[in-house]
Amino acid sequence: MNLENLPAAEPDGSLDGLWPSSARRVGGEIAIGGVGVSELAAEYGTPLYVLDEDVLRARARAWKEAMDEAFSRLRGADVYYAGKAFLCVAVAKAVAHEGLAVDACSEGELRTALAAGVPGSRIGMHGNNKSREEVELALRAEVGHFVVDSLAELEFVDSIARDEGAVASVMLRVTTGVHAGGHEYMSTAVEDQKFGLSIASGAAWQAVEKTVNAPNLRLVGLHSHIGSQILVVEAFEEAARAVLDLRARVHREIGLELREVDFGGGYGIRYTGGDSAPPSPAQLASALASVVASHSAESGIEPPRVSIEPGRNIVGPAGVTLYTVGTVKTVELEDGPRRYVSVDGGMSDNIRPALYDAAYTAALASREGEGRVRSRVVGKHCESGDIVVRDVSLPEDLAAGDILAVPATGAYGRSMASNYNHVPRPGVVAVRGGASRWIVRRETVEDLLALDADYLRRGED
Ligand SMILES: *Cc1c(COP(=O)(O)O)cnc(C)c1O
Repeated sequence: MNLENLPAAEPDGSLDGLWPSSARRVGGEIAIGGVGVSELAAEYGTPLYVLDEDVLRARARAWKEAMDEAFSRLRGADVYYAGKAFLCVAVAKAVAHEGLAVDACSEGELRTALAAGVPGSRIGMHGNNKSREEVELALRAEVGHFVVDSLAELEFVDSIARDEGAVASVMLRVTTGVHAGGHEYMSTAVEDQKFGLSIASGAAWQAVEKTVNAPNLRLVGLHSHIGSQILVVEAFEEAARAVLDLRARVHREIGLELREVDFGGGYGIRYTGGDSAPPSPAQLASALASVVASHSAESGIEPPRVSIEPGRNIVGPAGVTLYTVGTVKTVELEDGPRRYVSVDGGMSDNIRPALYDAAYTAALASREGEGRVRSRVVGKHCESGDIVVRDVSLPEDLAAGDILAVPATGAYGRSMASNYNHVPRPGVVAVRGGASRWIVRRETVEDLLALDADYLRRGED
């Protein structure tokens, strides 16, 4: 086994976007946002999600600036932060402060964005199966638009809007047939999956007609989201053209000029040292702007205002998870030894390796260590698929009590966390300029027991 083939993971500045840009070794240990990992682990415990606030803000700003610049000669652009990647009040405030709007797809996400002071008009309401309560809440908050996913949902939103005496602005989520995204479960624009109104089957067109004729709906645009962790610009361009073609047909046949199109999210990031650099916001924004400009010139229709919804690309590289090493064992394989390194978290704080076979990398963070050995970082849960990092070379002298850092965990870590094995979910600490603070506190077993009805009734009998 050639250790050189295992993804490198040092925060030495050579792998732009893998680690937060502030991460570096100071006196042997890794510091993030100017705070050493030993200090973080001692103060807050592990496992711990660490979020570099400056990096989060800089990435949000980079998208906003790139889109504003690329679409300045067209009809302008909006960037919606996809809240599902990771949302809490501090994050919603930070992205809103950088000029972003917020995508919500549940009551919880919507209320979190509202609690952060994001105005309803700056929130997009998503979801393929919105509840009555969610639609009512969104209408009362006067959200900027609903992204409607199906014909049945159109009727549903229309009837609730009628009851509320409101008119709901609607974007239709259409599926373009573009296949993109690393894993089947991350590909959302093909025909055979749950999301959206198919352009090919005619459902999208039916939805257009239905929306135009619904008294309490206003059709404002078309929406497409092709998948997640996409690294090829062409996939976004192809989907954009398909959406613009449909918009042109709406103009041609119904005489309606839809003011907005939303190209969704899905912009990939680097997860390991073996990944190449993803396209930059500036590259992606200018590619989308070229498609919009040329389509508009060819079709002779005014260009739409454009929005996009990056989640992972903004918050993923701002986050690092810290774990404490526990038991360690080595197995002998045909091509050499593999060391299993068990940490104090696992699939409950990062389900992505088990769910999508997602690759990550790790570094010994509390000191430098010596030698290298092929390693697999695993969690503490009762599943052999409970893997944090499948393949990584880690120091030979790694031992219980060391702190491991796994970079690029800011997105879909905490937001997908579970209480499997009755493990309390880790909290999130924001770091910035040498200071740290909880932005989501750590769950405790008391929090879990507080939901246990028989526990609460104890002593009554
Ligand atoms: C998941 C999702 C996003 C964000 O995806 P990322 O891969 O995090 O950028 C944006 N829009 C919609 C509709 C989504 O479902």
